[in-house]
Amino acid sequence: MLDADFFRRWMTAAAASVDREADRLTALDSPIGDADHGSNLQRGFRAVRDALDKEPPATPGAVLTQAGRLLISTVGGASGPLYGTLLRRAGKSLGDAAEVDERQLAEALRAGTDAVMQLGGAAPGDKTMIDALVPAVDALGDSFAAARDAAERGAVATTPLQARKGRASYLGERSIGHQDPGATSSALLIAALLDASG
Ligand code: ADP
Ligand code: MG
Ligand code: MG
Repeated sequence: MLDADFFRRWMTAAAASVDREADRLTALDSPIGDADHGSNLQRGFRAVRDALDKEPPATPGAVLTQAGRLLISTVGGASGPLYGTLLRRAGKSLGDAAEVDERQLAEALRAGTDAVMQLGGAAPGDKTMIDALVPAVDALGDSFAAARDAAERGAVATTPLQARKGRASYLGERSIGHQDPGATSSALLIAALLDASG
């Protein structure tokens, strides 16, 4: 079973991973965006990590809800409200249970991903974070490792796509040939599940 401390470790591992990869995320956001994705997420996940360290919420749902709220309030840019919605909606789906199982986590992230698609209007294939999240959620029923691999494959597979949502879509065909920064950070978020369980 996964308790509140597992979810706190997940967010802390995500923050560490974003710190390590911030330069790469910003570099990916340079040719098809405004070169701020790494610094946006770094600011957000540092705030999440600090808040969870100071006063750890009592339930898995509360950890994700608080993390989502903080991402919305601290990340400038499109990715803040989108990641915030992912985590807040997932947290809401977990309710106030003290422990949840892997199947409930998968269902919660499915609900969160659906909420991101509603909010941002992106579908799979539009070259966004959705292209990593949807395959990850599909594979989460198998294992965290399967979800990580699916998310990474999904992120890499955004390269030949033309962006249809977000800033990159302004470039039209010139967005082809670059990996999407948000799909790349989503793969980091999913990979952090393994760090939290290991
Ligand atoms: P901004 O584009 O405002 O500078 P970021 O650089 O932090 O924000 O985030 C860009 C990422 O956000 C993109 O790579 C993409 O994955 C994601 N994104 C942008 N718009 C959408 C959307 N409508 N739906 C889903 N994801 C989106
Ligand atoms: Mg940007
Ligand atoms: Mg920006």
